[in-house]
Amino acid sequence: MSITTPEKRRSFIERNNSPCSRPGCPQARKGTSKWCSKHASAVRRYGHAEGKAITKKDLHSFFEAANDFIDRHASHQGIQQAISFLDQLITSAASDFRAHLPLNRELVRLSEEGLSGREALALVVAVHMFSVHRPRELPTGQGLIYAYANVLLKARPQSVVRSWHEEGVWKRQYRRVGSKVRRNLGRHIMRTLGGLLVNIQEYQKKETDDEIARNMSLRQPFTPNDSK
Ligand SMILES: [Zn+2]
Repeated sequence: MSITTPEKRRSFIERNNSPCSRPGCPQARKGTSKWCSKHASAVRRYGHAEGKAITKKDLHSFFEAANDFIDRHASHQGIQQAISFLDQLITSAASDFRAHLPLNRELVRLSEEGLSGREALALVVAVHMFSVHRPRELPTGQGLIYAYANVLLKARPQSVVRSWHEEGVWKRQYRRVGSKVRRNLGRHIMRTLGGLLVNIQEYQKKETDDEIARNMSLRQPFTPNDSK
């Protein structure tokens, strides 16, 4: 929502005094938002009020499996196209005439820090598989779109915009990435790689089903008629 004049904005903030829109949250709304500050921050970062960060530890086994999958299918056309799409996305931002725009600035950072299309694909596949196996923590929809973007944005350290010394320790303020950057990057990945991700998901499900079927046949009871 855009509120045009400072007067209108002030009066809107005064009227915006209901509790936070997240059911069960008693906190007051923040500014012009329909959320309290905690839930506004979750919406900005993860695309929905229930959103939480996926930790490196949570993602670890999915990342290993994704790397393994990509290696085993390295000559598959879709895998090759996805890697070159991500390589292009990451490396071309620096020469874009809009290189100063927030999303391009993030891509330039990732490129300078050496994020390759191959690693980026493994991260995106890992997030997708995380969502398939732990849908309560990462349901499909807006949260998944943000998670695709977040895993790439977090793949390398964020730029420090300010650092200062306080009570004997160095403190840092990192560049803040807005909701729009995350949403646009996530949507772009979903649009381009969505078909491949579903394809990988189906292949892996079939592998698991085949394994279950094999195990079942090993447990078939023997009968006197087995020679026939
Ligand atoms: Zn709240």
